[in-house]
Amino acid sequence: MCNEKTDLRSLNLIELTDFVVNELHEPKFRAKQLYEWIHIHLAQNYDEMTNIPKSLKAKLEETCDYRTLRQIDCQISKIDGTRKYLFAFEDGQMAESVLMKYKHGNSVCISSQIGCKMGCKFCASTLDGWFRNLTPAEMLGQIYAIQKDSGERVSNVVVMGTGEPMDNYDNIVKFIHLISDENGLNISQRNITVSTCGIVPRIKQLADEDLTITLAISLHAPNQEKRAELMPIANKYHISELIDACQYYFEKTGRRITFEYSLVAGVNDREKDAEELGQLIGHLNCHINLIPVNPIKERDFVSPSMDRAYAFQKKIEKYVNNVTIRREMGRDIDGACGQLRKRYIDDKLLTD
Ligand code: SAH
Repeated sequence: MCNEKTDLRSLNLIELTDFVVNELHEPKFRAKQLYEWIHIHLAQNYDEMTNIPKSLKAKLEETCDYRTLRQIDCQISKIDGTRKYLFAFEDGQMAESVLMKYKHGNSVCISSQIGCKMGCKFCASTLDGWFRNLTPAEMLGQIYAIQKDSGERVSNVVVMGTGEPMDNYDNIVKFIHLISDENGLNISQRNITVSTCGIVPRIKQLADEDLTITLAISLHAPNQEKRAELMPIANKYHISELIDACQYYFEKTGRRITFEYSLVAGVNDREKDAEELGQLIGHLNCHINLIPVNPIKERDFVSPSMDRAYAFQKKIEKYVNNVTIRREMGRDIDGACGQLRKRYIDDKLLTD
């Protein structure tokens, strides 16, 4: 059975060596060769592995699951070259990933789950619910497939696509170790950002992992009441517990927290909201990223004018040094999280 097989691309070098030596009874150097084929040359199948003997390939075929992704769609923005990919996994489930080109390098935004159960009101990823977690190999696979398809070296990774990474904790931590492994793609942990809606115990656990990644918190509101209206997770973890967890994360890792704040016209974009936000987080070493909300057709949230966004920025700058308004990438392609996948599935349902 497929699911009893070893997920080869999710193993770290120590686990792979153990598997190759103790399960397959092959010499240790084969593990290093395999690891390089998987994580440096980004091989899509065993055929590409030219220095691996046929006998070993046959054993791998029999015992392992080599999970690669199938590219279903790729939209390329005419404005800024942003590429939005839709991939299908072995079981036919689909997830989105985005390649964004910046002056400082190429950044890939990956999904961490199929669907999402967090229910944030403005987000398209959660509308059809949650299906399953992605494995480390499936998260790596999105980056590997994009690097191969685009021919561009990926230098930054953001886990901000569909899904709640802290709801897929063990796989995310394993993924971070694999993508930053010096024997693999070796992407610096400082160039990795993981975004969470605020699962407090997991944030504390992550702080204790001895990683140097950036933690981004989807805050989106200046107080408990408003946050609970937009994000059901706030009913489980009070905003004050979340802020305390952020303080703990900074104390343990020395890494500045990023707060994401989606500006929704008439909901959280008043100057009064900016002041309240400043009082809430002004004591933290942090960066705020203001994101004019990307309207989805299923909800009637409206984005504020840029003038209003600038006014909000100006107010909050009295309390926090680093405030940016997120530059919208790929404006001409399905922008908001989960929209491409959702459109694809909905269209398919209509035509089937
Ligand atoms: N579950 C994680 C990561 C996925 S969402 C999290 O909540 O952080 C990535 C970011 O995009 C989050 O800050 C999320 O709140 C935001 N987002 C989702 N839909 C959006 C929309 N329509 N407009 C603006 N931001 C959105």
